[in-house]
Amino acid sequence: MPVRSKENFLIFGSPRIEQDEIDEVVASMEVGWLGTGPKVARFEKDFSAYVGAPYAAACNSCTAALHLALVALGLKPGDEVITTPLTFCASVNAIIHAGCTPVLADIDPVTQNIDPECIREKITERTRAILPVHFAGRSCDMDRIMAVAREHDLKVVEDCAHAIETTWKGRHAGTFGDFGCFSFYVTKNVCTGEGGMVVAAGEDAIRHVKVLGLHGMSADAWKRFSDEGYKHYQVIEAGFKYNMMDLQAAIGIHQLKRVEQYFVRRCEIWDRYQDAFAALPLGLPAPEEPGTCHARHLYTILVDPDACGVERDEFLARITREGIGVGVHYLSIPEQPYYRERFGWTLADTPHAVRIGRQTVSLPLSAKLTDADVADVIEAVKRTLNA
Ligand SMILES: *Cc1c(COP(=O)(O)O)cnc(C)c1O
Repeated sequence: MPVRSKENFLIFGSPRIEQDEIDEVVASMEVGWLGTGPKVARFEKDFSAYVGAPYAAACNSCTAALHLALVALGLKPGDEVITTPLTFCASVNAIIHAGCTPVLADIDPVTQNIDPECIREKITERTRAILPVHFAGRSCDMDRIMAVAREHDLKVVEDCAHAIETTWKGRHAGTFGDFGCFSFYVTKNVCTGEGGMVVAAGEDAIRHVKVLGLHGMSADAWKRFSDEGYKHYQVIEAGFKYNMMDLQAAIGIHQLKRVEQYFVRRCEIWDRYQDAFAALPLGLPAPEEPGTCHARHLYTILVDPDACGVERDEFLARITREGIGVGVHYLSIPEQPYYRERFGWTLADTPHAVRIGRQTVSLPLSAKLTDADVADVIEAVKRTLNA
């Protein structure tokens, strides 16, 4: 008998949605304002207040946010942007779509974040920007990354898809670089279904992001249907269609109010996993640096076949048969054929990311999990190792 039956399969990353979100979406539908409107404006305001960034622009995904941030930096074809090989493909695709060349700098095997020393080694005369990812919710070393950026006059765009609650020495992730980009995808710590946010310190920078995100039309084009009289819009550059809908913001406004409550719940789950797995032959997440907040977005274990007696992929198959949904964050970027073919990357270039990408397993960590769910995950991990 599996730990959980097929009907009771524990879905990885299932979001916790409450009545307030449902009511707010219904209210938007009753009013009939579905697209970008007052709820998006409110969500931007609430979010910028939460992370302590003066300005914010909502968009329809973090992928779009990254793309807009890079385009707004005015990078040119051939410019190189350094990022981590242990990330979602969107981080790299955004660089490519902005017309730039991605360059991978290996991770620190303990923090699993991009290694500032490896960034330094990858800098050429064409390097223009760094795109660090706060992996799993653990802050990158922003002192060292910003020091490298200052020394070489580089822009910084932070991929904060995992890092809504993350802080580094009292300051929120996303507020160190020129832009911080957040995700509200279904599995993320605050979700709107699909959604993203760009934050920045400069009003002009965010205004530019908003213009680029809505066809390149000059500011506040959505106001043109209001009762203030028709206004012609002006297209001032070739923009994109990346705006967030009020229907999405309606969910986000209420999710954001519970960000700390959900964080506390994920911390409890995290601590239970750490205790339960301490004596097992798994690699466990390293403690975060003092004075920083880990957003507890992903709880990842390492399945080293020599220590565990099982290959990672067999571990995934077995635990799924126990009725527990798991994830892999991530097979490293050079494992993906497109990038290998286009950029000639080999697995030997970023050995730490490749090894971790082949051993890592993400266990369920949603604030939705009950204590019984968590006990099931622990039991399934133990059975999977002993099978
Ligand atoms: C989820 C994710 C993204 C993309 O976010 P979307 O909102 O789905 O576009 C980008 N980078 C990382 C590291 C992610 O985990």
